[in-house]
Amino acid sequence: MKKLSLLTQVLIAFTLALVLGLIFKEKMAIVQPLGDLFLRLIKFIMAPLILTTLIVGITSLQDSKQLFSMGGRTIAYYMVTTLIAVGIGIFYGVVLSPGSGVKVNEPQGTEAAQAEAPTFVETILTIIPENPFAALMDGNILQIIFLAIAIGLGILFVGEEARPVKRLFESFSTVMFKITSGVMVIAPIGIFGMVAPIIGEYGAAVLMPLIKVIVAVGLGCVTQVLVAYLLTVKVFGKMNPVAFLKGIAPAGIVAFSTASSGATLPISLKNTQENLGVSKKTASFVLPLGATMNMDGSAIYQGVAALFIAQFYGIELGMAEIMMIMFTATVASVGTAGVPGAGMIMLTMVLAAVQLPVEGIALIAAIDRVLDMFRTSVNIVGDAAAAVFVDSFEKKREKKENHSISA
Ligand code: ASP
Repeated sequence: MKKLSLLTQVLIAFTLALVLGLIFKEKMAIVQPLGDLFLRLIKFIMAPLILTTLIVGITSLQDSKQLFSMGGRTIAYYMVTTLIAVGIGIFYGVVLSPGSGVKVNEPQGTEAAQAEAPTFVETILTIIPENPFAALMDGNILQIIFLAIAIGLGILFVGEEARPVKRLFESFSTVMFKITSGVMVIAPIGIFGMVAPIIGEYGAAVLMPLIKVIVAVGLGCVTQVLVAYLLTVKVFGKMNPVAFLKGIAPAGIVAFSTASSGATLPISLKNTQENLGVSKKTASFVLPLGATMNMDGSAIYQGVAALFIAQFYGIELGMAEIMMIMFTATVASVGTAGVPGAGMIMLTMVLAAVQLPVEGIALIAAIDRVLDMFRTSVNIVGDAAAAVFVDSFEKKREKKENHSISA
């Protein structure tokens, strides 16, 4: 019997979850442990995987010049696509005006409405771990990235003498990759276990009153993929857009099911290298950064949500407020952690900046998980497009170097 590809297996699991969720509704909560098993395994590999891949990503650069050019390109691409994303979110927020004429029962005292987004300064300061081991133990991704960058730069600048440490991390990262492949074997079962209970819980009845918000976020996500990513891979990566989508689809579906960029990182690292032909060096550098700071889907959501809340309360927004939303949503999406629901907490920052009622969050809290699934998929696909973009320059440079050596 021909072995089914991971993508086919994942798609079958997903469809099955959808159908059974709609039929058996809340009863599907029974399969939740399968989802939890997969999630636990992913969390189990996450910290050492991020640490080792990012260190390898940095130390495989030849020198600090390459670091700056690759880092610069990555950050610039992230910023531009995030701005496009907020713009698209605002566009659909205006055109579809999802908040006009809605009637939703405001839940009382929602947790989300009370949770507060950290301030900008707090966000920056807490990136630095007071104790690197504690960062690893707590699985604090931003802090682990800081640690990895510090070790990576250290190795890069020490040079020859740091070679054993460099080799150690290289071999460690290969081992982590092998473990990741092992975990991915049960991905279809995990996806089934995560998606079926969600579909069972959020049957059509819960979604209907806010269907316009879901449509606006969904359309925004599709537009972003078409406008920003497929164009990028076609123009820079000289890649067939369909092949790109097919290659990153398993990661996209895992992102949809887990609503966590962090949890999807292991599989997006695998997909981009094995299916999209991105070099290990680029993938290990671009993707861990992207999973924590490039959140285009979250930016789209913040644009739509801010407009929805303004419309719901009948508050007119001028050009200055729209610009402010663009700016704060971009910053907020950088500060959004790659975990479920983080985008909604960061939305409070955007709302506060333009003096929209923060309790408006309670309006969409009920369907946030569903929106989160869409936005997280876009977050992940956006990171993969960035990897293709950055890698295209690396390939060109290598070709030039090889050319000049053989000449
Ligand atoms: N769940 C999203 C992610 O992990 C973040 C968000 O809530 O917007 O990418």
